[in-house]
Amino acid sequence: MTRQLPLQPAENRAGRTTFTVDVEDHRPEDGPAGGCSPRYEGMTRRLLDFLEAHGVAGTFFIDGELARRSPSLVREIAARRHEIGSHSYRHVTLECETPAGFAAGIAAAKARLEDLSGAAVLGFRAPAFSVTPPTCWAIDVLGHAGFAYSSSVVPGPALVGGYPGAPRRPFLWPNGLLEIPCPVGTIGRWAVPFRGGMYLRYLPPWRYRRLQAQLGEQADWTYCHPYDIDGKESFARLPGRGWIVSLLLRANRGITLRRWHRLAAHPAPPFAARLPELRAAAVLFEGQGSAPDPEA
Ligand SMILES: [Zn+2]
Repeated sequence: MTRQLPLQPAENRAGRTTFTVDVEDHRPEDGPAGGCSPRYEGMTRRLLDFLEAHGVAGTFFIDGELARRSPSLVREIAARRHEIGSHSYRHVTLECETPAGFAAGIAAAKARLEDLSGAAVLGFRAPAFSVTPPTCWAIDVLGHAGFAYSSSVVPGPALVGGYPGAPRRPFLWPNGLLEIPCPVGTIGRWAVPFRGGMYLRYLPPWRYRRLQAQLGEQADWTYCHPYDIDGKESFARLPGRGWIVSLLLRANRGITLRRWHRLAAHPAPPFAARLPELRAAAVLFEGQGSAPDPEA
């Protein structure tokens, strides 16, 4: 159920876009144990160079395990004046976590990122936008861990994740945590997070423009992963993925930066700098889902 806070002007979008990056390694077996150099470091630096060239500061949600493997990369992202957020401890979706295990992991990941960056970590993004009705127990865990906001919900029925009934604009969970949901458009019955990832790479311009017209009062932000811009990565079947999905994830990687180039004409600050504005525009959402299992 949604309830308006005392009326505030809706977020002043004016076409401004916050740039976010989910820093993760989608082929961890290629890392030191597998004998190949992981490619995420180079691609993340390429994204840093792109943002710097466009005068944009973004929000980087970083996988905790990757922060352990690449501490200098985390320091560099912070030194180049971007916000550091957490992308969980070991990049598994919340359905694969228990409340107790998630709490321990997220506390360790937050502490590590704060130690490396020298700044408070305020934001969290769940792997694969996996805050859904069955996993919304994670919101209380994030509140206890000291996070100020989450950006982990696809509001509506979605092919991946999805939270039917969640507002398509910033909202406050019952514990006061701010949610900055993924901007979506509707195709058929599906909420499509068209502003990033594979969607940004594959949607034809006419479809993209139609979805863009549906943004309304949604917080306007975009997202990508280091691999989304890696046109030189060799093709391989990804862990836990079929051949077709692996091929889709590999192809069309020249599109992301072209579309980011256009979005960068009207950038918005990182989320941390927008929190007062986003909270003022937020509605209350009571959520619906399962309580955490105290035995877990
Ligand atoms: Zn991720």
